[in-house]
Amino acid sequence: MKVSGRVERMKESATLAVAARAAAMRKDGIDVVSFGTGEPDFDTPANIKDAAARALAAGMTKYVATPGTPEAREAIASKLRRENGIDCTAAHVAITAGAKHALYLALQALVDPGDEVVLPTPAWVSYRPLIELAGGRCVEVPGAMEHGFKVTPAQLEAAIGPRTVAVILNSPSNPSGIAYSEAEMRALCEVIARHPQVTVVSDEIYEKLTYPELSPGLRHFSPGSIPALAGRTVTLNGMSKAFAMTGWRIGYVCAPADGGRFLQELVKLQAQMTNNIPSFFMPAIVEALSDRSAPQVESMRRAFAGRARVVAELLAGIPRMSTVAPTGAFYAFPSIAACSGLRTPAGRSITDGHSYAEALLAEAHVAVVPGGDFGECAADHVRITFACDESQLREGLARIARFTAALA
Ligand code: PMP
Ligand code: GLU
Repeated sequence: MKVSGRVERMKESATLAVAARAAAMRKDGIDVVSFGTGEPDFDTPANIKDAAARALAAGMTKYVATPGTPEAREAIASKLRRENGIDCTAAHVAITAGAKHALYLALQALVDPGDEVVLPTPAWVSYRPLIELAGGRCVEVPGAMEHGFKVTPAQLEAAIGPRTVAVILNSPSNPSGIAYSEAEMRALCEVIARHPQVTVVSDEIYEKLTYPELSPGLRHFSPGSIPALAGRTVTLNGMSKAFAMTGWRIGYVCAPADGGRFLQELVKLQAQMTNNIPSFFMPAIVEALSDRSAPQVESMRRAFAGRARVVAELLAGIPRMSTVAPTGAFYAFPSIAACSGLRTPAGRSITDGHSYAEALLAEAHVAVVPGGDFGECAADHVRITFACDESQLREGLARIARFTAALA
């Protein structure tokens, strides 16, 4: 059967592919430690589950407005005003099937064929395919490991040209686990402010997962709070990471531009595509964003901060691996460049992050995501997700240490 060129050319999601392989090996009885998919190991807090269950039992089973109920949209707008300093109302918010869907809708609404989207890398695997699906050209700006995986204002300035329609910012970042400070983020935004045709797409899905205990003074900062950019920032976020709700598929997008005109165009596409997300999730969104959930979100954050410390310490003790200590999200992104040209005891040769990850899974039964799909600069890296308990973390890193030491 025919497959469109547009879809055939698209890369599969490397993060989800690794997860599927690890799951298949486990099904065959192999004891795999999975550092693959970025998904919290915690269960969704009970008060959030109860809110959805109550709504379902009460018969909240019909369509609601495409971008969500007024109550859920207002809960999100109020959170964005209060916590992020974004001047918005419920009319500027649409609730989507995950932040991934919010990104898809935003790029479809923003990008015409031939437009350029600037992407600081290493960056999450789905940005480039979704930019290209919209007909755009992805212009990568490499954040060097020596600079903490961060791009500089001068690099950003050099990447923006007359065809640039958007810059994607993602802090804390997947896959590098770094977070830009407020000053660093403001400096990047100053560059963008000088280019009036450029929209900021700010993916803030990891905003709650910043670790000031590991980087004193660090706190999340939203570009949409800067007055010069308020009218041309699209903020993406969702419930997956901070609330341990990956399987629910709840994301949102906020775009106050032109009194909500951009948002209305985006919702036009959403209405033709998926319409509303499950209606009985709407009260669960209100519950998640209430004060009642904050202590549980904070306790998960603290657990991730503890794991970030453990991963950084253990990785620092592994020769042939070099890395930047994570300060946000739940990822570390070590370079395995020093392993290039070596062979495993079983004879597999290591040439890059991809061959390293393949050999590690086959011989040491640890799943990591190869770096290549996170950016052209990242081929010699692998991503380690530390969204698992500490004993798994220690076991997996011990296997990685043994595997890496045995290369010759
Ligand atoms: N943005 C980033 C940077 C991510 O890592 C993810 C991974 N899930 C998403 C967006 C999408 O999250 P979801 O669709 O689960 O809300
Ligand atoms: N974002 C997570 C990851 O990078 C979940 C999988 C995905 O959607 O890519 O692992």
